[in-house]
Amino acid sequence: MEEHKENIHGKDVNVKSNGDNDDKPDSTKCPKGGEAPPQASNSSFSHPVYKEIALANGHINRMSKEELRAKLSQLKLDTRGVKDVMKKRLKSHYKKQKLTQSAADSDSDPGGFPYDYICVVDFEATCEEDNPPDFLHEIIEFPIVLISTHTLEIVGTFQEYVKPQLYPTLSDFCVNLTGITQDKVDAAKPFPAVLKQVVKWLAERELGTKYKYTFLTDGAWDMSKFLNIQCRVSQLRYPKFARKWINIRKSYGNFYKVPRTQTKLSTMLDNLGLQYEGRPHSGLDDSRNIARVALRMLQDGCQLRVNEELHGGQLLTVPSWAPAEGAPPPCWPGSRK
Ligand code: AMP
Ligand code: MG
Repeated sequence: MEEHKENIHGKDVNVKSNGDNDDKPDSTKCPKGGEAPPQASNSSFSHPVYKEIALANGHINRMSKEELRAKLSQLKLDTRGVKDVMKKRLKSHYKKQKLTQSAADSDSDPGGFPYDYICVVDFEATCEEDNPPDFLHEIIEFPIVLISTHTLEIVGTFQEYVKPQLYPTLSDFCVNLTGITQDKVDAAKPFPAVLKQVVKWLAERELGTKYKYTFLTDGAWDMSKFLNIQCRVSQLRYPKFARKWINIRKSYGNFYKVPRTQTKLSTMLDNLGLQYEGRPHSGLDDSRNIARVALRMLQDGCQLRVNEELHGGQLLTVPSWAPAEGAPPPCWPGSRK
């Protein structure tokens, strides 16, 4: 069950639009085939390169699945995934090729990816079989999978279990769902100590100082619900460095043009021709699999950008025209007064 991760039916997470609305593109909307990417080197869409891209896209749209696969194979590109995924991969390839060529011809900067690193986070939390909407989830696993956007690889992982403070005994349902046993959380540190370790881990990698980075989650709940509730329970302010993130479900839906009902982790993996690796609902394994989807999207030409933020306790959409700033340097958030 992955529906709990996001409010696709408008249940308890209230996503507000930050001076934007859902009809307008949000920042996860990756450059469309035949349209100008945000960082295109040619400022005018009337540049002949866009006509060439539009023509190539029209041709790709008319190709059968077999033709797409043959073309991808000829170009030594990945041939896995459903038809829409293959189409998008081929369009991105031609667009990148044409824009790079055009930038080389005009000697201008083709523009790079906005972040050096992406931290994929997928929390596990205490739960019951039917969590009431006001259930006080406490984080029991804090994993991070670090992606380099330059090498397109997973370059590091962090994992700590967390001892819940309010309700230290896990329900049988929670143990069965997450595979996290009572002895693991009994032996773990409470959340503030783990958050200190996270801050140190991020700082050691010079994220936010030497390198630009941001967070990425599968749905909005990891930050807007689990981290937000946990900070209140632990009497901590919400960390500034985790205020904005990439919701990969939105990015995936916008990039491959699929409805939000097809952006569950298992469906995203399936449609990319990938299989889940590890144990579902293990925070670290979930994070690794989300990272695999993100890597594939980057390889397919998606410019993953921050698209959600928590502001004054409210979940907001970050509009597409907002500058793609990296997260601030990690630091201890301090306690609530
Ligand atoms: P996930 O990342 O899908 O493993 O879910 C994160 C957290 O959401 C879990 O650790 C649980 O606290 C909660 N959760 C996930 N699935 C369910 C479910 N079917 N019923 C109740 N809580 C759930
Ligand atoms: Mg999980």
